[in-house]
Amino acid sequence: MRKMNRLLRRVASSVIAMVSGLAAASAIAGAADTASDASDWPLYGRTYQEARFTPLKQIDVANAGRLGLAWEFNDFVVRGRTHRGNEASPIVADGVMYFSGPWSVVYALDARVGTLLWKYDPQVDGNWARRACCDVVNRGVALWKGHVYVATLDGYLVCIDAKSGKLVWKVDTFIDRKTMNYASTGAPRVAGENIVIGNSGAELAARGYVSAYDSASGKLTWRFFIVPGDPAKGPDESPDVTVARKTWSKESRWDLGGGGTAWDSMVYDPALKLLYVGTGNGMPHPVWTRSPGGGDNLFLSSIVALDATSGRMRWYYQTTPGDSWDFTATQNMILADIEVDGHTRHVLMQAPKNGFFYVLDRTNGKLLSANAYTHVTWARNVDLTTGRPLLTSQADYSREKKEIWPSQAGGHNWMPMSYSETSHLVFIPTLNAGMNFGMLPGKDVHFRVGANNEGDDVGWARPAGDGGIPWAPPNPGESGPPFQSVLEAWDPRRGKVVWQTPPQPFWAGGVLSTASGLVFQGAADGVFSAYDASKGTRVAQLETGTGIIAAPISYQMDGTQYVAVLAGFGGAMNQIGYPPGSAALKYQNRERVLVFKLDGGAVSLPPNRQSELQPLPAPISTDPKVLQHGISLIARCAGCHGFRGIPNGYPDLWNLSPSTHAAFQSIVLDGALSYAGMPSFKDALTPDDVKAIQAFIISDEINIRKAGKGKSDAQ
Ligand code: CA
Repeated sequence: MRKMNRLLRRVASSVIAMVSGLAAASAIAGAADTASDASDWPLYGRTYQEARFTPLKQIDVANAGRLGLAWEFNDFVVRGRTHRGNEASPIVADGVMYFSGPWSVVYALDARVGTLLWKYDPQVDGNWARRACCDVVNRGVALWKGHVYVATLDGYLVCIDAKSGKLVWKVDTFIDRKTMNYASTGAPRVAGENIVIGNSGAELAARGYVSAYDSASGKLTWRFFIVPGDPAKGPDESPDVTVARKTWSKESRWDLGGGGTAWDSMVYDPALKLLYVGTGNGMPHPVWTRSPGGGDNLFLSSIVALDATSGRMRWYYQTTPGDSWDFTATQNMILADIEVDGHTRHVLMQAPKNGFFYVLDRTNGKLLSANAYTHVTWARNVDLTTGRPLLTSQADYSREKKEIWPSQAGGHNWMPMSYSETSHLVFIPTLNAGMNFGMLPGKDVHFRVGANNEGDDVGWARPAGDGGIPWAPPNPGESGPPFQSVLEAWDPRRGKVVWQTPPQPFWAGGVLSTASGLVFQGAADGVFSAYDASKGTRVAQLETGTGIIAAPISYQMDGTQYVAVLAGFGGAMNQIGYPPGSAALKYQNRERVLVFKLDGGAVSLPPNRQSELQPLPAPISTDPKVLQHGISLIARCAGCHGFRGIPNGYPDLWNLSPSTHAAFQSIVLDGALSYAGMPSFKDALTPDDVKAIQAFIISDEINIRKAGKGKSDAQ
């Protein structure tokens, strides 16, 4: 049993390690250009500043209690696949709502009533489920001059006619489909006449880069490499790469790509014509493994300002030099003009994973302030003169295991924060969680497609029960800061928390703020809430029955203000397991678009999660050697399917139907269910391996039933 617990912790750890992304053309262009029309939401964060703030005021603190459902859309393309997470923010312009769902499918709806106008399914092969670290999600589309752009999971930038939903062009954004592990989940951004996109993959070996394509033709305009490539393979692509190379040791693991993938945040300043790119963590995670001899390893975990016309670097600010903790700086960036020391400054704000809230002068990259917005132990502070963090002795886990806060999930992950342009507060979906970081003794890093970072050994600092799962409350008698997810209001001028909500189920959704003093946010428990922005009290809560991680948006039509949010739990939690209190534990997890207005109707709850007990299968083998071999391999399955007792978004292996058991070999080796996201593991497992896995699962299921523990929670 102890062995099992250890195994389970390893599984949880390895998954955690992965957590670590129109109608009339003229009218649309106009809306996006000025973004002054409060009634639309024409760009990813509404305006180029990406404050996720609406000037609309119809719904306010006094009347928010009257919010109800205006309409719902739930006809997502599933085709027998399992239900997945919704992470996108919709775009609304000229009465049409555009958004992307799981598997990069794009939808256009009538924003007034939710009728489907068209959908575009890029037909992503199910095998790509293995390439995406954290579910087959997509965070959104871009809209520009009558075209809708989506970056598909399998790496194509697709241009779709906004009126008809028909394909206009499609380009391959990946530079390597063999040795690197790219996938795309982020929303493309409009930067001048270019559409820009990065990708993910830094958990699985990838060299990060960002590409810009001409919005009309799809022709590549420029490409910026975030980290240097293998010097044996050719000269540096640009002088910027040469600058970065000086901060890497010669014997760096070029074969593993270096990481730095820009999988989520990019912001464009049309006045300065600068594109700000938030870059990802290093690959492999520990710098001593990645770049022996150390170095800052530019441009990992950095905010890089690029000339949007040429793609050349203007300035950079590295939040985590020599990153060894999966501290990405890919979290959402917000541009604002705020008062600093009596002067109005054009700033860029970010709360990256590393726990510090940064305010930079976005004209030149100068650090104006950096203060901890969550519990931080890896660094004492950030020196404002050098711009560098002052590391504590806790930071170095090369020789012994260390408890480090924040965890690899970060103090803030991809769920967008919001900035109120009236109160000047930032509302951050904050995570308070620590993690034990260490090295696996005698283990070098091993990488292959679909495999995880096996070099560093991580686990939540405060394991609860068997699973080492972070969202449980502290164990009795434990001291130290609590593990929790909260919404906090942050004053970027003073670098201080103004208010905090009570703890929410582990990890909460993205945020919207309004000129009428409201903050909207959904959560894993399926509750969609409105808070009073001045003090954090909850003024409205709607039970939806569906976990929410995406950020809400707001728009107005015919005098009615709407608040829209995509619901559907998933993302990294799809693999790690549903936290206690999750709606997905109680109800079937379904992809939905929920749109609210004043005096709307009731929200219908999804059907209860059915736990149908399958007949007990007959044992395949009782040979202890076979069963032991199955145990040694089960982590490969549990990385997605979970281990007994932790329900997640994948079918429960401990409660498979007789027909699934009969097809087990062909599912695992021949990819019989690859269309549904269960890829073939032929490259990694032999028929005997698969038999051993199945034998162990069946034997274990029989033992559990015999012990009278009932069934595992079926999907
Ligand atoms: Ca990561």
